[in-house]
Amino acid sequence: MDRLWVPHRMVYVKDHHQPTQHDCPFCEAPEKGDEDALIVARGETAYVILNLFPYNNGHMLVCPYRHIASYDEATPAEVAEIGALTQRAMRVACEVMGCDGFNLGMNQGAIAGAGVAAHLHQHIVPRWASDANFFPIIAKTKALPQLLGEVREKLATAWADPPDGVQPE
Ligand SMILES: [Zn+2]
Repeated sequence: MDRLWVPHRMVYVKDHHQPTQHDCPFCEAPEKGDEDALIVARGETAYVILNLFPYNNGHMLVCPYRHIASYDEATPAEVAEIGALTQRAMRVACEVMGCDGFNLGMNQGAIAGAGVAAHLHQHIVPRWASDANFFPIIAKTKALPQLLGEVREKLATAWADPPDGVQPE
């Protein structure tokens, strides 16, 4: 856990400047195509995107489309959809990647380790019993953008075509 939530993931943020709506990666992403933006799925009020700086393979973020910083600013519809998308992302990740568990969570505020504190996002980090060194090993053998593109493709395909027993929300 320590390694997962340390506040060094400031790579999205230049010069410790928190983005406004106009230069926010989580506002810009939905304006691009799914492949370019690494978007796995889009809902009505929120969407699911691969983390460009993953802690582990299949690390997804659930973001509302609205540029809000805090979970308590989310509307009931956004709260419900963030929850539903999180559940579905877990099922899809289990199906595609066979993971053993997850870390779920939101860092609220830069002080709590949020890289993009200005735009709410929930982390979904798949975990495997033997994952301690998994990602560094595969990342060394493939360029990261290619790897992320392949992971997005697998997750998005499974998301769009749930097998029997996996109900769309
Ligand atoms: Zn934003």
